[in-house]
Amino acid sequence: MEPLRNKTRVIRVGDVYIGGENPIVVQSMTNTKTEDIQSTVAQIKRLEEAGCEVIRCAIPNFESAKAIREIKKQIRIPLVGDIHFDYRLAIATIENGADKIRINPGNIGSNDKIKGVIDKAKEYDIPIRIGVNSGSLEKHILKRYGRVTAQGIVESAMEKVRLMEELDFTNLAVSVKSSDVLMCIEAHELIARACDYPLHVGITEAGTVYSGNIKSSVGIGIILNQGIGNTIRVSLTGDPVEEIKTGIMILKALGLRRGGVEVVSCPTCGRTEIDLIKLANEVETLVANIPLELKVAVMGCVVNGPGEAKEADIGIAGGKGEGVIIKKGEVIKKVEEEKLLEALKQELLNWEKEHRF
Ligand code: SF4
Repeated sequence: MEPLRNKTRVIRVGDVYIGGENPIVVQSMTNTKTEDIQSTVAQIKRLEEAGCEVIRCAIPNFESAKAIREIKKQIRIPLVGDIHFDYRLAIATIENGADKIRINPGNIGSNDKIKGVIDKAKEYDIPIRIGVNSGSLEKHILKRYGRVTAQGIVESAMEKVRLMEELDFTNLAVSVKSSDVLMCIEAHELIARACDYPLHVGITEAGTVYSGNIKSSVGIGIILNQGIGNTIRVSLTGDPVEEIKTGIMILKALGLRRGGVEVVSCPTCGRTEIDLIKLANEVETLVANIPLELKVAVMGCVVNGPGEAKEADIGIAGGKGEGVIIKKGEVIKKVEEEKLLEALKQELLNWEKEHRF
């Protein structure tokens, strides 16, 4: 059955298309002061390098709205302005060249103010994301359901969708977020059937790198695996680069993205004969930006390692003072322990040459 995500409308954010049959887009949000142009650009460049495809910046004041113009000149990926409360900030952000804005019409104010933002978005031909969070549900909705529920979150989002449609604006993306993983999953199941706008998926306030990664992987993973979601953002209290790494890993684990080197490593056991944790981390850093599509295994012993690495294209296994290089499960070379990483690098280069022709 065709996934629901393929049946959504398509929006254009700068030169990135979100929705329909377009690949799922991975995005993040800067945590610098947006008006500190130098720091913001530096962080966005690190995010671009890590694979970020769309970046969002908070716009809490006019200085940050103005900074968008200069930031845009120095980055490659589309930029989204995130605005709360003040419609004038939304207008200024659009005028300064944002490729999309994110608002919650519920806190922007009267319909006239929302109309002002819509007119500007139309003039500049950019989409708007309506973002509803479990923490910002209106009183009438809380009263109807007695507490925060998935139905309430979706109803709140749909009220805003209808308002935008009544104001003749359909260049939309929608997000319904909750920090409660199960509630968030349910809200996505409901909203995906209630409208055909592209969905921005994420677990909000997911937590630190450790708990946030787990909650996001479970929540976003289950949502995506149901064929729902056109763009994802992993929210972590930490370096946003980690959000991108996790987002890409979630897509790869679900078979929704291919490419890049996949590192598999054994869990270590009493037979482990080298510092495998250090080695596996070094290998992960080594291959991070290598544009080859292959699997590399990092194993802790030469007895079982080669057998267990059979499914990998290239593997290394550690022994006492020396290790081995493995290709498709066969040991092809012995090397001193300190030279294992260098030997792996060489094998990757050979692999690239062999597969280029
Ligand atoms: Fe243990 Fe060797 Fe298997 Fe690693 S590869 S888990 S060290 S037996």
